[in-house]
Amino acid sequence: MDVNGSEAVKFSTARGYGMETLVQHAGQEPKIWSTDSAVIPPIVTSTTFRLPDVAETGDFVYARCGNPTRNSFESCIAALEGAKHGIAFASGVTTLFCVTNMLKSGDHIVSGNELYGGCSDQMKQITSNLNIQTTFVDSRDPKNVAAAMTPNTKMVWIETPSNPGLRISDIAAIAEIAHNNGAFLCVDNTFSSPYFQQPLKLGADLVMSSVTKYINGHTDVLMGIVCTNRDDFNERLRNFQLLIGAVPSPFDCYLANRGVKTLPLRMEKHQENAIAVAKALAENPRVEKVLYPGLPSHPQHELAKKQMSGFSGMVSLWIKGGLKEVKIFFKSLKVVLFAVSLGGTHSLTEHPATLTHDGLTAEEKEDLGVQDNLVRLSVGLETTSDLIADLEQALKAAIPEV
Ligand SMILES: *Cc1c(COP(=O)(O)O)cnc(C)c1O
Repeated sequence: MDVNGSEAVKFSTARGYGMETLVQHAGQEPKIWSTDSAVIPPIVTSTTFRLPDVAETGDFVYARCGNPTRNSFESCIAALEGAKHGIAFASGVTTLFCVTNMLKSGDHIVSGNELYGGCSDQMKQITSNLNIQTTFVDSRDPKNVAAAMTPNTKMVWIETPSNPGLRISDIAAIAEIAHNNGAFLCVDNTFSSPYFQQPLKLGADLVMSSVTKYINGHTDVLMGIVCTNRDDFNERLRNFQLLIGAVPSPFDCYLANRGVKTLPLRMEKHQENAIAVAKALAENPRVEKVLYPGLPSHPQHELAKKQMSGFSGMVSLWIKGGLKEVKIFFKSLKVVLFAVSLGGTHSLTEHPATLTHDGLTAEEKEDLGVQDNLVRLSVGLETTSDLIADLEQALKAAIPEV
């Protein structure tokens, strides 16, 4: 519709309307915004939508229960995950909170024991208060998951590859164990993104991602999403959007929708850089150990190859030294930034023992290899040789003698 057309001039001084009415209505006819020709979905910020009639609703009613910009993004991610439904929330951890809210008091969760720190902390500190207890097991061996199942187990939660040890769990095998016990499986797919792994196709019932990481990919949006093919789960999760209300803003949905347009290109380059960095670090005499699921030296490389089509941009390394050397290493970096989070265009590095996994007990840290000399790298999109040179010079500064 032409913005200068009849809808816009319906409200004009010539028609006798006052200034106070004109600021609300002139040129603001809802029809102007319902264009069917914009190439990029517009940001619709309206919190309410004009209704067709009494007891009749249009596609949209109120922003908490649905917004065109959000729906557009949700449909896009659902398509990438091979899902019927995508339900977005204000953050990754809110997404976990809403998924666990499908359980009730007395139910039980079996979870992988290596998770994003915020997720395991939520299960231990918040979900447990709802009388929903979680048993954490080493999910690299599906037998450990099977052994922890109880008649009350309603959900199995795994993160693969996991954070920060890049452990791989067998999605198909664990889905079967969950289903045989009447439970559902939710996979945290943040580290690989739907570009490299689609858990629903391997039997998972739900797949969640922190959109904050690879999906948005530009380190400027906090958001989470869960996708599913089950209509009953979709209905309940949509109800949480409505009643819990922790939904992302239209502006964030617009940014994430824009960010995801380059997901395939970014993931290919993240992977290319990560392989080069991991190979260079593996040959460095100042490095004790490097883990990258795409290298044959990773203990679960075969399983990773079976269920993933690529290995993403996350690399973990243990340097030869302790806290003192690690501190100098972080301080000496020039291209790679010392900051938490991951999956953005910049290369970031962080120290799990004191930052993301600080909440673990000393015993858990030992068990998961979260020692003081562990460094997590989110390899970004910079020039490959610049990244390698930066890491090498920082290692040299931290550990002068080898
Ligand atoms: C960051 C992250 C989360 C939490 O997401 P937020 O968007 O920060 O709330 C969950 N899982 C993994 C694997 C993550 O990396």
